[in-house]
Amino acid sequence: MTDAPLALPADHPYGPHHLPYGAIGVGDEVHLAVRIGDHALDLATAAARTPWAAELAEPTLNAFLELGPRAWAGLRSWLQERLGDEAGRAELGQHLHALDGLTLHLPFRVADYVDFYASEQHASNVGSIFRPDGDALTPNWKHLPIGYHGRSSTVVVSGTDIVRPTGQRKTPADPAPVFGPSIKLDIEAELGFVVGGSTPVGSRVSVDEAADHLFGIALFNDWSARDIQAWEYVPLGPFLGKSFASSIAAWITPMAALESARVDLPAQDPEPLPYLQGSDGSLFGLDLTMEVRLNGTVISRPPYATMYWSPTQMLAHMTVNGAALTSGDLFASGTTSGDDVAQRGSLLELTWNGSEPLTLEDGSTRTFLEDGDTVTITATAPGPDGTTLALGEVSGTIRPAG
Ligand code: MN
Repeated sequence: MTDAPLALPADHPYGPHHLPYGAIGVGDEVHLAVRIGDHALDLATAAARTPWAAELAEPTLNAFLELGPRAWAGLRSWLQERLGDEAGRAELGQHLHALDGLTLHLPFRVADYVDFYASEQHASNVGSIFRPDGDALTPNWKHLPIGYHGRSSTVVVSGTDIVRPTGQRKTPADPAPVFGPSIKLDIEAELGFVVGGSTPVGSRVSVDEAADHLFGIALFNDWSARDIQAWEYVPLGPFLGKSFASSIAAWITPMAALESARVDLPAQDPEPLPYLQGSDGSLFGLDLTMEVRLNGTVISRPPYATMYWSPTQMLAHMTVNGAALTSGDLFASGTTSGDDVAQRGSLLELTWNGSEPLTLEDGSTRTFLEDGDTVTITATAPGPDGTTLALGEVSGTIRPAG
């Protein structure tokens, strides 16, 4: 018996300070797991004698999410204690699967899914492109975190192929709409937040209470058909231009691993209404640097720290009307775009709606995605004591329209 696979250097991006959650194929079953180094620790077997054994024997995190933050912290401490000494590592070492060749599944059943629009730079860029004669930001933008309800059943795990959507489009120059595969298929580099702990219909979650419902984060790609979207979105917002597929990373980084990544938000002016304010520390951004690769070429490095709204404000806003939370709810930040051109999180912005093509390392150019293109988003964040975390990647390849 050896503790070797779990005796990792302190600065390993998947060391004991990280412990992201996933779901792995074990024979015909799906087991919950935690990533440590290049291995997945099978929680269904490793945690079989813990107080959370029943919830961790499920194929999804939903039951464990419902237990709330004390259970989440309890399991994390239980794991970190064992990873901290040789006997504990040897004990856990009996429940490891090498990541290489392992099938990763969506680790939670997505309950409701909401997508926000929390980057001022992204909202300004999109406003300038779609409404060149109007104000870049809509009048409500700095008063509330704008969002829409997406389609939870088409949230797919990283690695799932994306079939090019088909639908209606009509440019202002077209006399009538036409039907066919989207010709403006795009990405949106986002961060997803996984929610735990249900609340009753008719209740609200305050900004201060919101942190207790934030289980973890995962990189998220909100694939978007800009031509379908541009024709359909007035007056009710995104619909079929978004709902065909959204990809999420297979590993969920717990909020508890991100204490060192918390940063102040940009200044919020005007001051938001009282229900969007919180006590010290309850409003925060995250110092994540994302990298977006298209067929291997880095096309953008969006900085999440520039986002205008705190995830706690997004969650409070999502429930201020009395809407319930369900364990497994997912909300995403909206496209992350920084001030610089090379920090824009969508092709719409990077190519200014197709007018300024990108050149990839193989010499080819892109305005929007072509069949066969692979987009991969990665990110790092500061961990404790000068360490770094690497978030699980989110990746997808475009297949021709069906
Ligand atoms: Mn989006």
